[in-house]
Amino acid sequence: MQSISRVLTGPGQLASIFVLISTLSCSDAGPGPSRTSGTGQGSGGSTGSGATGSGGTGGVTTGSGGSGGTTGKGGSGGSDTGGSGGTTDDGGTTGSGGSSGAGGTGAGGTGGGGTGGAAGSGAGGTATGDAGPGGAGAGGGSSGTGGTSVDGGPGGMAGSAGSPLPDAGGTGGAGGSMPPGDASTPDGGGPSLDPDIITIVTSVNTTRVSNDITTLSNFTTRNTCSNNTASGNAIGAARDWIYGQLQSIGPYTVSKQNFNYTGCGATGTTTVTDQNVVAVKLGTHPDRVIIMGGHYDSRTIDPVSPTDRAPGANDSGSQTALVIEAARIMASYTFDATVIFAAFAAEEQGLAGSAQLAKNYASLVTANAKVEAMLNCDIVGGDIAANDATAMRQFRLFSSGTPREIVTPMGKTDDTSPSRGIMRYIGYWGSLYVPSMTMLPQLREDRPTRGGDHQSFLDQAIPAVRFIETVESPNAGMPGSHQHTADDLPMNMSPDYTARITQLVVATGASLARAPMAPLSATVSGSGSGPWTVGWMPPASGPAVDHYVIAARPSTENFYRTRVVVPASTTSRAVTAAELGVTGVSIFYISVAAVDAVGHESLFAYPEHRCTTTSCVVPSDALNVTARN
Ligand SMILES: [Zn+2]
Repeated sequence: MQSISRVLTGPGQLASIFVLISTLSCSDAGPGPSRTSGTGQGSGGSTGSGATGSGGTGGVTTGSGGSGGTTGKGGSGGSDTGGSGGTTDDGGTTGSGGSSGAGGTGAGGTGGGGTGGAAGSGAGGTATGDAGPGGAGAGGGSSGTGGTSVDGGPGGMAGSAGSPLPDAGGTGGAGGSMPPGDASTPDGGGPSLDPDIITIVTSVNTTRVSNDITTLSNFTTRNTCSNNTASGNAIGAARDWIYGQLQSIGPYTVSKQNFNYTGCGATGTTTVTDQNVVAVKLGTHPDRVIIMGGHYDSRTIDPVSPTDRAPGANDSGSQTALVIEAARIMASYTFDATVIFAAFAAEEQGLAGSAQLAKNYASLVTANAKVEAMLNCDIVGGDIAANDATAMRQFRLFSSGTPREIVTPMGKTDDTSPSRGIMRYIGYWGSLYVPSMTMLPQLREDRPTRGGDHQSFLDQAIPAVRFIETVESPNAGMPGSHQHTADDLPMNMSPDYTARITQLVVATGASLARAPMAPLSATVSGSGSGPWTVGWMPPASGPAVDHYVIAARPSTENFYRTRVVVPASTTSRAVTAAELGVTGVSIFYISVAAVDAVGHESLFAYPEHRCTTTSCVVPSDALNVTARN
């Protein structure tokens, strides 16, 4: 429960709280969560009235609204004007989210449309205002319809098609999709969701994921030391099957990347050559790289047995199926950044495959390629004995600070690292695109004494995180163990869970790959109770910047509070504690991100500055991102 309480203690984590409330209190067809409204620059709105009444209205003036979905009425849209002042109506009128169908409706006031419900079981939102995005119907129902534009607004953000996820379709209305206190778009209404990404997310197909896991688990073993030829029923055949799957999708350059591993055989000194399977899709700016990966090798109690049965359905069939499915559903879309889908071998024997790709990926892209984020997935199968219904709607996200927490039991919020920036991105955008899932931040590199392929990238100073199921099966040798045994079978895991993690990973990866790069050379000055002046340089690459957002988080919290919108023409802004939502907070972190016209938000500039009443400085260890603790 430590992790859950961590989520609940941060006021900046309200979105997650609401999702958690939803998770804890709702059956699949139950009511959506309520949301309080924003506290941006203005007064914010009233509080959604909870599970049985109608959602509250959005904020007035420049606050951002976003009230909750309930059984009867869906989430109200936001109402703010995003810092542009002026008067607004209540941004949202009620939708009819929750169990009854439509996502919330964002009705624009003068200048501020609301972002509607994110996960009703039916229709997307409607924009009736004269500006601002319409509702975002991200939910998966069986009959989602697109949003409509009634009065000159941009229209609904693509009410999603019915989700193929059998247990995602009826997940109650998630109410307004806008986290409280947010004003990240100039025309109000909070963050904008990309209709393409909503489509990608809802295209995840549980049946395909399940079939792939079954196929992978039917290889006798995928052990690194097993038969590496195509004719065996071991790692070589599995490698070729993965290669064939990725190759058949179409628009990728797929390759098998050789590497050596020494440690097989009776004496543990035999060297074998294995392969990573890597699919590359070059972006508009190919030097920018986003990697989604996971290992495909498996093991049983004997970690190097070449012949013992090692089905590895959860570890590692789940993440291999995830990577293949992600490649399928992202194939027909274009991205600003290059996207790499990677299946690694030899993870179980010391991360040898990922170490290879972390060093040689540029050879597959461009000479100047640089990875901005590595999303590692490992054990994302949802062991059905270890995870109850609540845990099946959660996931752990491992993200180290600086120095990397390996020996120490757990990091702290008063720390910073590029990987934590990815964690924040997943927490914010993941919860918007996949509100049915709640992240449990893990403030360290991996589980004590355990590891994963993200570490190979961290070793190369590449920001990387690990997705893993909430509770994993006991390791081999423990009572009831499935992990690393012949019992790691499809029957002991949940393809639906893997599909939901897939949704989170593609939402994150696609968002990052379409967003600008982070602003550069951020500076922050100020002291006392502010204001503080933040300056920066435009991003080096990526789509055109539409505006910037400045945000801060108390040193006791993982996540940013209010986003303060700054026009793209400006690269310096004095911000107050009230604007940032940190009034009375004596120590906080602050940074700036770039947002394009669609709403794709970059990672926040790294390093963050840490402000006390005395000054704002970059923490002394912030740039030593490979140091271990
Ligand atoms: Zn694994």
